Amino acid sequence: MTATVRFTPQIDADIARASTMFINGEWVTAASGETFPVFDPADGQVIAHVPAGGPADVDRAVAAARAALAPGSRWRVMTPQERGRLIWRLADLVEANLERLSALDSIDSGKPADEMRYFDIPFSVDVLRYYAGWPTKITGDTIPISYPASHGKRFHAYTLKEPVGVVAAIVPWNLPLLMAIKKLAPALATGCTVVLKPAEQTPISMAVLAELTVEAGIPVGVVNYVTGLGEVAGAALANHADVDKVTFTGSVPTGKSIVQASAGNLKRVSLELGGKSPNIVFDDADLDAVLEGAAAAAFATQGESCIAGSRLYLQRGIFDEVVRRLSEHAASIKLGRGTAPGTQMGPLISVEHRDRVLGYIKIGTEEGAQVVTGGQAPAGPEYDGGYFVQPTVLVNAHPQARIMHEEIFGPVVAAVPFDTEEEVLELANNTRFGLGAAVWTRDISRAHRMAAAIESGQVWVNCYQAADSALPFGGTKESGWGRETCRETLEEYLETKTVVVAL
Ligand code: NAD
Ligand code: MN
Repeated sequence: MTATVRFTPQIDADIARASTMFINGEWVTAASGETFPVFDPADGQVIAHVPAGGPADVDRAVAAARAALAPGSRWRVMTPQERGRLIWRLADLVEANLERLSALDSIDSGKPADEMRYFDIPFSVDVLRYYAGWPTKITGDTIPISYPASHGKRFHAYTLKEPVGVVAAIVPWNLPLLMAIKKLAPALATGCTVVLKPAEQTPISMAVLAELTVEAGIPVGVVNYVTGLGEVAGAALANHADVDKVTFTGSVPTGKSIVQASAGNLKRVSLELGGKSPNIVFDDADLDAVLEGAAAAAFATQGESCIAGSRLYLQRGIFDEVVRRLSEHAASIKLGRGTAPGTQMGPLISVEHRDRVLGYIKIGTEEGAQVVTGGQAPAGPEYDGGYFVQPTVLVNAHPQARIMHEEIFGPVVAAVPFDTEEEVLELANNTRFGLGAAVWTRDISRAHRMAAAIESGQVWVNCYQAADSALPFGGTKESGWGRETCRETLEEYLETKTVVVAL
């Protein structure tokens, strides 16, 4: 009997590989023997059964990561040049596997494969190459000290930068490979070791990433990953007494639970927790550019993006035109399976999440908003079983409405008119989040005034979600702690040791 090929032989083999997880250089099942199903969001079919890792598996992975850090270990004695070369080699391997990884993450997350091809995977490569340059540039200081000059002694004082230790990286499902690499790359650059935990919805590409770390020559135990449910495997990592740092991207409630769990051993915590980003358009802006930016802000990655421009503030004179053009565009977006040619928007991640997003649209209309376009699951046999939601534009939401304050994480944007700069600033900052924000205007003074006054981790002027591997990315307020993809990220993975020598 010949086995049937579901996707392609390569993809099928990768999915089969994900029936194990990677601990201490070995492909293993869960100690309990249990698994959980992974669904294809385009049709609701089960595509894989992956190990339901629990505390025993987390213990093994953390022990492997700890052992790889031992004094004298291969990883510990590696020169900065060697460490940088390994990260660069991993970048080359991710790049060489671009089509494979794009297809896998697209199948698993539902996102259009083109988004993977042109953004997630190339950006992952950039992030690795950016951090590959850092190991040779991480230095301490020599510090001229005054103490205790009165005794006439002389001192030589300096700092050493040391890896924080074992890092647990808890990864979300919206950009599976990229989010893993945003955490893995600085950890490797600083000489830490890592236990990755993919989201239960999207564990598959991590199997390929683990294979590539082996091919790159990264020593055994430096990179491990455990699949499992968040409340089980994720919580076990957050609570683990031998994990030195957790880096997490996901929801605010989970972020808060990780902070609470961290109190056990006072482990370091970095958090990237999403947002409710204002996209602010003044009537002097280039409307063609605005339309393109606003559509991407609202609908890229099905709106399952922490920086989704979900609050669209439009100055009164252009409100009708922008809403009309954005709605026409939204209605024309081709929904479909992520890997199908021509698909512009894929399904949402899960049936629960689809219902949550549709629930928010219902709450919005109950609280007085009106749907201009979309608002439902699309009809048609090609959508049967899949978790699709139409791109949706809402108007007339009250400033206190829940849809103006809670992260919907779907293709849903609420457009709100405003008159003055002061008014829109107050509206924009009236949120517990502070991740992204954009301002569209040709008035350069206003652009800088707004950029200074908006409370958020990043502000884009006349563009949306411009991302670069060297640009700090992260949030203020309840959007989280710390910054990713930049120089200061390294500090979050390092400890400073002060050495004082009496001469
Ligand atoms: P979540 O935060 O619960 O899950 C994200 C990751 O955390 C997953 O790997 C999950 O397994 C893990 N996790 C879950 N509970 C945990 C726990 N108690 N301890 C440790 N780890 C745990 O997110 P979700 O339930 O998949 O989605 C809910 C909402 O979160 C979304 O609707 C969206 O608003 C938000 N979200 C934000 C981002 C982002 O990029 N900031 C990504 C995914 C989800
Ligand atoms: Mn959750």
